[in-house]
Amino acid sequence: MRSMKKEINKIVKKELISLVVPCYNEEEALPYYYEAMNKLSKELEQEIEFVFVDDGSRDKTLDVLINLAKKDKRVKYISFSRNFGKEAAMYAGFENATGDYVTTMDADLQDPPELLKEMIKGIKEEGYDSVGVRRVTRKGEPPIRSFFARCFYRLINKMSSTEMVDGARDYRLMTRQMVNALLELKEYNRYSKGLFSFVGFKTKWLEYENVERVAGETKWSFWKLFKYAIEGIVAFSTVPLVIASFLGVVLCFVAILFVIIIIARTLIWGDPVSGWPSLACIIIFIGGLQLLCIGVIGEYLSKTYLETKKRPIYIVRVDNLQK
Ligand code: UDP
Ligand code: MG
Repeated sequence: MRSMKKEINKIVKKELISLVVPCYNEEEALPYYYEAMNKLSKELEQEIEFVFVDDGSRDKTLDVLINLAKKDKRVKYISFSRNFGKEAAMYAGFENATGDYVTTMDADLQDPPELLKEMIKGIKEEGYDSVGVRRVTRKGEPPIRSFFARCFYRLINKMSSTEMVDGARDYRLMTRQMVNALLELKEYNRYSKGLFSFVGFKTKWLEYENVERVAGETKWSFWKLFKYAIEGIVAFSTVPLVIASFLGVVLCFVAILFVIIIIARTLIWGDPVSGWPSLACIIIFIGGLQLLCIGVIGEYLSKTYLETKKRPIYIVRVDNLQK
C-alpha cells in the first residue's frame, strides 16, 4: 500500500532540484542570481528549491534572503553565526536540501545557469550519477593565480590517489544517492574537490569558458587560496610525510659517510683545526631540514587534533527551515 502511494506521488509530483548557494557578502549579486534562476526554472520540467546559506556575511545578504523568502516559498535560507568558509556552507546546504537532485552554485553567476539543463539530461537520459563542469579557460583571473592553480593541480595529482580535475568547479548536479554518500563524510577539514572524487560514482564533465562574476568581488585572497591548497594536500595525501622520512634516511647515510671520511682523514693527516665555516653551514642546513619535517608532521597532527575534537562543521544563527 505504502509503496503504491509512493508510486502515485512520483507520478503526480514533479521531481525536485535543490540549488545550494553559499553566500558570503553577496548582497549585490544575489538579486541577479535569483532572477536568472527564476527565469530558468520556468523552462525546466522539474521543480526547484533554493537553499541559500549565508556564511556569516557582514553586509545585508541576510536581509536580501529574508525578503526573497517572503516573496517566494521555494526559498530556504540558513544563516551562520560567523564565517565558517564555503566548504561548511556547502555541507550545511547539502544537509538541508530535500531534492531528488542537488547542485551547488556560486551566487555570482560564475556557474552558468543554462548548463543545468544539460546536466539534467546527463543524469536522466545518459545514466550518469553526477554531471560536473570544468572551466577550460581562466580568463579574467590574475595570471599569477592561474599559474599557481595549475602547479597545484599538477602537484596534488602526483601526490594523491584521489583524482583532482583541473578547473573543475563545485557546480555539479548530483543524484540523491551521491549526496547522501557525501553527507556520510563528516570530517571537519573539508576539501570538496577531493570529497567529490572520493565518493566515486559515474561523473560526466561539461566544459565551458570562464565567466566573470556579475557583481561584488571575489572572496578568495591569495593567502586564503594557499591555505586551501595545503588543506587539499594534507587531506588527500600523506606523501609529504613519506618525503620527510626519506630525507631523514638519506641524510643519515650522508652523515655516516662523512664520519668515516673524517676519521680516515684524521688518522692519515692529523687534526688541524679548520673547516668550521663549512661545518656551520651543514649544521644550519640540517637544522632547517629538521624544522621543515617537524612542520610537515605538525600540519598533519594539527588536522588530526581538530578532527578528534569533533566540533560542529557550522553553527546556525537563524533559518527558515520547518523541521
Ligand atoms: N563563499 C562563502 N564563504 C566564504 C567565501 C566564499 O560562502 O568564506 C561563497 C561566495 O559567496 C560565492 C562562492 O563561495 O558564492 C565562491 O566565491 P567567490 O566567487 O568569491 O570565489 P571565486 O569564484 O572568485 O573563486
Ligand atoms: Mg566566483
